Amino acid sequence: MADVESFTLDHTAVLAPYIRLIGTESGPRGDVISNFDVRLVQPNEGEIPTAGLHTIEHLLASLLRDRIGGVIDISPFGCRTGFHLIMWGEPDLGDVVTAVSDSLRAIAEDVEWEDVPGVDAFSCGNYRDHSLHTAREWSKLVLSQGISRDAFARVGV
Ligand SMILES: [Zn+2]
Repeated sequence: MADVESFTLDHTAVLAPYIRLIGTESGPRGDVISNFDVRLVQPNEGEIPTAGLHTIEHLLASLLRDRIGGVIDISPFGCRTGFHLIMWGEPDLGDVVTAVSDSLRAIAEDVEWEDVPGVDAFSCGNYRDHSLHTAREWSKLVLSQGISRDAFARVGV
């Protein structure tokens, strides 16, 4: 089986919340994409409940694109401790941290239920499984801890 970087990361050594560049990849025409580990919860110590994570996913899809260019996709980890963020090019890590933090701040402080995109049967595969309350509370918790620019040390928080 192919080696996958995520499974070589020592999940017992990291200090969440953090954002880490997993790596870059180049396509056949030279386009570069960057893959980030957006870790919001300390691995094996907690996880965002599914409904809240689902609502954060829907909101980040819009809020993050409003705050930084080049977002291809941001999708939750199966372990529910964070998200993969795929972006065009090689964005500055500090800019990514700022954009994610500002997006979580909007979820914690500003967003109303009417603002959550795609929460009906037409546009979501499990529209009944959402919680803005949970999304808010976990966003507040992450912001209170600060998002580090280093996975193994608390940098810039
Ligand atoms: Zn959905």
